[in-house]
Amino acid sequence: MPDIIQDNVYGMDKEAFRQAGYDFIDWLADYFEQVEGLPLKARVEPGDILYQLPEVPPTVGEPIDVLFSDFKRIIMPGITHWQHPGWFAYFPANNSPESVLAELLTAGLGAQCMIWQTSPAAAELEERVMEWLGRMLGLSSHMKGVIQDTASTATLCALLSAREKATGFASNESGVRQPLRVYASREAHSSIEKGVKIAGYGKDNLCYIDTNEAFAMIPEKLEAAIQKDIDSGMAPACVVATLGSTSSMAMDPVYSIAAICKKYSVWLHIDAAFAGTAAIVPELRHFMHGVEQADSFVFNPHKWMLTNFDCSAYFVKDPETLIQTLSINPEYLKTAADGQVKNYRDWGIQLGRRFRALKLWFVIRSYGVEGLQQMVRGHVDLARQFATWVEEEPGFELTAPPQLSLVCFRYNPGTHSEEELTQINKQLLETVNDAGSVYLTHTVLNGKYSIRLAVGQANTKLKHVKKAWELLLEARR
Ligand SMILES: *Cc1c(COP(=O)(O)O)cnc(C)c1O
Repeated sequence: MPDIIQDNVYGMDKEAFRQAGYDFIDWLADYFEQVEGLPLKARVEPGDILYQLPEVPPTVGEPIDVLFSDFKRIIMPGITHWQHPGWFAYFPANNSPESVLAELLTAGLGAQCMIWQTSPAAAELEERVMEWLGRMLGLSSHMKGVIQDTASTATLCALLSAREKATGFASNESGVRQPLRVYASREAHSSIEKGVKIAGYGKDNLCYIDTNEAFAMIPEKLEAAIQKDIDSGMAPACVVATLGSTSSMAMDPVYSIAAICKKYSVWLHIDAAFAGTAAIVPELRHFMHGVEQADSFVFNPHKWMLTNFDCSAYFVKDPETLIQTLSINPEYLKTAADGQVKNYRDWGIQLGRRFRALKLWFVIRSYGVEGLQQMVRGHVDLARQFATWVEEEPGFELTAPPQLSLVCFRYNPGTHSEEELTQINKQLLETVNDAGSVYLTHTVLNGKYSIRLAVGQANTKLKHVKKAWELLLEARR
């Protein structure tokens, strides 16, 4: 063998790695401490970052300190700070130092956890932490869990399983040959539509069910839609119920929906991507009523459970259906342990899998169930406080019933048309966000342009919610 191959050393030497590692952790520790002082939303225009990046990759390697300084100089100004305690936009994606450290270990091990044999500890830790999560949420012990990258992927798995169940596993063999129907509320997340398209149902077969004044699915309308489809020769395959809609945290009545699914033998999938975490708090768990009847359930620890993106928890009542839907068994992946272990490659879409269970293990052990419950309670209390201010302030109104950690509202001083109100609130939102210390986003509810306040960043305190409220009061004048 030529010497050049043997002598080549890839990557920095161990001392340099150690030093850079210390520097990076120091920098991150400072970042966590100082993020509150940074303008929350990136203040850049489209292309600002792109034009600073060379069009061609470097021919010769560059030292890590140059990269690190470019990261600070070029990348950081284009970052929006999701870990800023004034984060009230969209939904939270909170993290924690413990989760970040575990993620570092995951990256360092670089293990590919597609099957048990490619890292037994990863498979077995995943099995155990998913059992822990199931217990924490009060799920039935019959529900078995697997970690997916996102709720979108988990919902796609549910739609695929439902498709196979409805066709006796024939569509895996020969494609979808009959119109299979999927039902979700009008407030359901866009990932349902995406999943329906990918899974071959066709978008026309996604039937949106009307919602009530609280934006929750009306079960009678669901049953009527199912009945109508059956009468016209179509096959109902799946209902996706939402616990915590993205717009307003609306809760579909799962208990009644489950009874309908049972009656018509339709798969019931629950999308609780954001709200699911609240189920770890016993006094908040009532929205889960009926979940034990579901075939599948997803929630995102990467939203509201201190576990940095990505980590989505998918639970199924009957793993065999999931496995039969997705299993592949080429010769090169067969191992002696196959009969006795969980090979998670068959529990999801992709073959390769990151070791995500590690950060979840670190988070649950570091905070304990009580610590996580305390965080959720705190966030819900803050949202309730904010909702009270909105209700008591003349000229402001709630536009949906406040749920858990989300409040939807608008400024409505009266005597304005809907169109004017939209403009007024758009302007209000922009002014508040431009201050740079809080970030809120909007939605439209029943035709009303609404501002949303979603509490969930780990370090959000009363003073940050107060700040948002003060800015809103100032900006309305
Ligand atoms: C955030 C969210 C999703 C999408 O989650 P991803 O993990 O980003 O795919 C789906 N449904 C609901 C209700 C959500 O809140």
